Amino acid sequence: MDKYYNVIGGERRESSTGERFENRNPANWDEVIGTFPRSNEEDVNTAVESARSAFNNWRLVPAPKRGEIIKKVGDILSGRKEEIARLMTREMGKVLDETRGDVQEGIDTAYYAASEGRRLFGHNAPSELPNKMNISFRQPIGVAGIISPWNFPMAIPTWKIFPALVCGNCVVFKPASDTPATAAVFVDILLEAGIPPKVVNIVHGTGNGVGIPIVNHPDINIISFTGSSKVGKTIAEAGGRQLKRISLELGGKNAQIVMDDAYIDLALDGVLWGAFGTTGQRCTATSRLILHEAIYDEFMDKLLKRTQALKLGNGLNEEVQVGPLINEGQRNVVEKYVEIGKKEGAKILCGGEHETDGECAKGFFYKPTIFGDVTPGMTIAQEEIFGPVLSVIKINSLDEAISALNDSIYGLSSSIYTQDVNAAFRAMRDIEAGITYINGPTIGAECHMPFGGVKETGNGHREGGWEVYEFFSETKTVYVDFSGKLQRAQIDNR
Ligand code: NAD
Repeated sequence: MDKYYNVIGGERRESSTGERFENRNPANWDEVIGTFPRSNEEDVNTAVESARSAFNNWRLVPAPKRGEIIKKVGDILSGRKEEIARLMTREMGKVLDETRGDVQEGIDTAYYAASEGRRLFGHNAPSELPNKMNISFRQPIGVAGIISPWNFPMAIPTWKIFPALVCGNCVVFKPASDTPATAAVFVDILLEAGIPPKVVNIVHGTGNGVGIPIVNHPDINIISFTGSSKVGKTIAEAGGRQLKRISLELGGKNAQIVMDDAYIDLALDGVLWGAFGTTGQRCTATSRLILHEAIYDEFMDKLLKRTQALKLGNGLNEEVQVGPLINEGQRNVVEKYVEIGKKEGAKILCGGEHETDGECAKGFFYKPTIFGDVTPGMTIAQEEIFGPVLSVIKINSLDEAISALNDSIYGLSSSIYTQDVNAAFRAMRDIEAGITYINGPTIGAECHMPFGGVKETGNGHREGGWEVYEFFSETKTVYVDFSGKLQRAQIDNR
């Protein structure tokens, strides 16, 4: 068992509470990965002071140079990919293939961020007056508070921290308390690659102990948060009072539509991966299957057989396809929704109970579960469950499919399987979601494209791609008048 620390100004520090919390393996709760400082507001204050004191130097480091350091982070991550993936599987349970993918996303994001250091494009535009030039460019903002969830312990922090740093901001990072070990390794790598010690600071602890003080701290200018919509709303409220710049990436209730002309086996591969990959614990997980009645029986027959054949267990075993839920609380949530589904009249077609066979007895496993006879208004079709539960809704037209898909307070990811190009284009236009896949599952974002959702999935910002660089920087507009005289806009040229 390892002992981990906060890292503030490059130094390892105990929390001011002196208390620690444990990080355990959800596939085998007897295994303690490490202990971490249970920090509080005092630790946040120290970290913010450290970040603030570094800002004036860091903001003046040329952006291409900042990008070069992030490239080195990518190189180190590449060299340590397997080791980090194994640690991640132990601390949060998802299978090795997926944790390798999570680290790879961090690597890809690093190389994209490095190249963005040479772009960070501004604009220039002609002036309406002679001998005058108008330009705009991007400037750093200050200190960014980064608050991340546990389901992508490497990818999500890199989506936020790389652009924050390339844009010239300093960082106070609070990772989820279920996955602090991957975060700790990540911060060590940032420092090893050459990020100056005070520029990045990590403070471990809970949402109440560390998250809230970060949001409320007057010297934190930017909040980038990924997590539940419930917490996101409290952050918007508290941060809004100080007019902070806030990016919120929140919950989802994603659906895959399968039309009667779809390639059935392709759509089956998609829904299995979308619904049960990461044990359904992705913000983009497929939790609703909207299935055309003409192919319903054939599709469901195959889907149930393949779902029941999925192998559950410890993700370090390469044959395992589905890992545990993150903790006992999350398994209780899944159980609660399964009971609600039954009470509301949906029919359990498979799963619906704990998996306790063999090695699964020591962890928080739940059998992949499929509900039939679901109508769009049922609780299990409306609320985010964040577990291996798929609700199947029968439809008989494209209009009905899109309207069922849009019947949600969320709007993150979506998918349609069809061979009809007209149907595909109508879906692209009419589906209310930040992301739509055509003939692909609801999961599978690439780091160089904008990522985020509509409605209660967020507040309009995007991570990934070029858009996140706008979030982490401020626009400066400059007018250069080389006429040698006073030129009054809107007056002297009229
Ligand atoms: P969560 O909201 O419980 O916690 C997220 C983070 O916020 C954690 O670090 C937590 O400690 C911290 N936190 C909790 N309460 C806080 C508060 N009051 N103030 C400040 N910080 C606080 O979410 P989770 O259980 O870690 O993650 C699952 C949720 O995240 C799901 O709803 C999922 O859809 C969402 N998610 C969204 C995306 C996306 O990009 N849209 C990606 C991954 C996960």
